[in-house]
Amino acid sequence: MSMTRVHADQVFTGGARAGQVRTPGATRSAVVRLARPKQARAKGSDVLAVCIFVTAVTIGLWLQHGGFSALIGGGSGTVRAIGQLSGLAAALGALGAIILTARPVFLERRYGLDQLLAAHRWFGISTVLLVVVHAVAATAAWAAMSGMTFVGALGDMLANESWMVAALASTVIFVTIGLSSWRRIKNAISYETWYFLHLTAYLAVLLGFGHQLTLGSDFTRDRVAMWWWTGLAVATLAVVMWSRVGVVATSLRRRLYVSAVSREAQGVGSLHINGPSLRRMRVAGGQFFIVRPLAKGLWWQAHPFSVSAAPTTGGLRFTIKELGDDTPNLLKVKPGTRVLLEGPYGVFTVEKAAGSRVVLVAGGVGIAPIRAILEDCHPSQRPIVIVRVRNERDLPHRTELEGLVKSRDGELIVLTGPREWFAARDPFSPDGLAAIIPGIEGRHAFICGPASLESAVIKGLRKAGMPTSNIHLERFGV
Ligand SMILES: Cc1cc2nc3c(=O)[nH]c(=O)nc-3n(C[C@H](O)[C@H](O)[C@H](O)COP(=O)(O)OP(=O)(O)OC[C@H]3O[C@@H](n4cnc5c(N)ncnc54)[C@H](O)[C@@H]3O)c2cc1C
Repeated sequence: MSMTRVHADQVFTGGARAGQVRTPGATRSAVVRLARPKQARAKGSDVLAVCIFVTAVTIGLWLQHGGFSALIGGGSGTVRAIGQLSGLAAALGALGAIILTARPVFLERRYGLDQLLAAHRWFGISTVLLVVVHAVAATAAWAAMSGMTFVGALGDMLANESWMVAALASTVIFVTIGLSSWRRIKNAISYETWYFLHLTAYLAVLLGFGHQLTLGSDFTRDRVAMWWWTGLAVATLAVVMWSRVGVVATSLRRRLYVSAVSREAQGVGSLHINGPSLRRMRVAGGQFFIVRPLAKGLWWQAHPFSVSAAPTTGGLRFTIKELGDDTPNLLKVKPGTRVLLEGPYGVFTVEKAAGSRVVLVAGGVGIAPIRAILEDCHPSQRPIVIVRVRNERDLPHRTELEGLVKSRDGELIVLTGPREWFAARDPFSPDGLAAIIPGIEGRHAFICGPASLESAVIKGLRKAGMPTSNIHLERFGV
């Protein structure tokens, strides 16, 4: 392992705003830092209160329909009650998962997209399991009450009950989505296949809704319950329309285009974005956009990229590693190509440190958001930047990083060399980190890089005394 350290007093940098990037084509006089995003209005307690209210009303209606006495009564009544309860929970779970994945701004500003997607995953897995329990229990109860076999009862329901074929299709779709998210299968299929499969969840909810209203005894006998569930479905649809359609409309309205493409390091380039609409956008360093260039072969896919420099009216910059199918082509788009930007998203911003001193750790192209956060740091935060790359040629924006640490009274530490070298002397061990980060306990850490690097750094920082609440992550994998 090789460690290069650059202290603030060792670097020469010209100009007062060291490291500031101007997009090619921008005029110096016009360049102004974009406003920062507004603070989240929704509080965690508001979100919790809504969740408790929705769950309480749903369970209250079920209890009112005699659900609990059926549950403890034994026999086929118990199986039926399990079927009802799991069906209601699955319906709530599906609506919750849809709201989370629609990433409404009031939730995204508070929790950040990665936390919303983590919660979505939890809701999604629970929904699939509950759907299976519901289907098995409801069929078993039908079989017990009619004296048929399990398969006979299933056939009977499909043949004689309205919306049951749709409900079966809904179950099959939910299970397929669940299986496609299983790590092994997900790794074996392309991201796009996985994503488009996921979109069919909307269809699954729609197909399942019919049998809920016509067959569920909770609804057929009670108009309040029927209106309650219809209201929940309409509210979910409204959130989805407002969040998704609104976001697409905004990105279409913004007149943005690729102003330049530049090479930064081996296999890494930058996409520079400009346009008159930039002036009205609010963006912080460390946030990311879903980027969709309107170019042949690329317009139908969108990818998330973090801004890699402080966002200004002079342009946005995304630093992109050539990885799979699309990223190499993204770096070949012609200047002048229109681009749709959805966002900004994320709460991986310097505000999290609330003015405290910071340590910024990047692995590979994780340098993109770290570089932008560094630019947002105040000199009193004495940023220590640790960058792990295989060799020096892999490090993009090195000159900018040196200029920025110099102007912010910080330090840049570049760790190079193959992974095996680290086994002998681990720089992310608690002692290793404490040796290079003065006052480690009081600092905030921002980490972005491969999962293995992230977990090694988190472990080392915690053991060296940094509170978990001071550690902030941006994950590039979904
Ligand atoms: C919040 C966030 C910020 C990111 N910022 C940067 C950045 O600044 N610079 C950079 O080089 N990379 C960044 N990435 C990673 C980048 O989005 C992927 O490397 C890129 O999408 C790969 O596309 P591909 O077609 O070339 O590769 P593929 O081979 O198609 O995909 C490789 C992997 O990338 C991920 N991926 C692919 N498409 C998407 C998508 N539409 N949405 C989410 N993940 C996807 C999947 O995990 C997939 O397995 C970021 C990712 C996230 C989630």
